[in-house]
Amino acid sequence: MDNSGVHPDKAPDNQYIRICSECDLVHHHVPVARGQTAYCKRCGKTLYRGHSYALERSLAFAVCGLAFFAVANVAPLLIFSMQGNSNANLLIDGGLEFLKTDYWFLGLLVLFASVIAPFLLLCVIILMVAPVLMGRAPVVSGALFRAYARLRPWAMGEIFIIGIIVAYVKLSDFADVFVGTALFGFMGMVISSVLALLYLDPRELWLRIEANRS
Ligand SMILES: [Zn+2]
Repeated sequence: MDNSGVHPDKAPDNQYIRICSECDLVHHHVPVARGQTAYCKRCGKTLYRGHSYALERSLAFAVCGLAFFAVANVAPLLIFSMQGNSNANLLIDGGLEFLKTDYWFLGLLVLFASVIAPFLLLCVIILMVAPVLMGRAPVVSGALFRAYARLRPWAMGEIFIIGIIVAYVKLSDFADVFVGTALFGFMGMVISSVLALLYLDPRELWLRIEANRS
């Protein structure tokens, strides 16, 4: 399955096509029933699956991800205690601290990849999927698909979690460090986002949009 584009490719005979990501063999898109999987004819790689209520699941996980996002941004992330002084940091504090220094561009990058992009991606998924499930075909669907394709590579929450764990291990050598509720909220958001993306098949969504339009 070609994940690089979000709009289903149309062959000259007006049939949608699927391109194997392993061997580039072009297949006509054949709708599969829930629970079934379409494989490449040449190499056997999975092309796409017919998930049960895939779009509904994607929407549910995206909403769930937003709830976790709120927890991740309101609650403290790491709490430091050294020589009687205690200090709690929020998720956005890392990026904001960089903005005050000569490394402001790095701060912008951290804020975008850890806070802004994951939030926008979840919002875009909800705005893309919810109207379609209600039988509508919004005129902004194309713009939302393009935003989805651009945001997806930037949502790197899982890498940020590794960074937090590394910071926790390093700092615990010379200070008492406690993990705040935000870390669990952030991990919940990352897991919810991964599942929302797993169940979101842009081609299936686009086919539903076209069906709603007709
Ligand atoms: Zn193949």
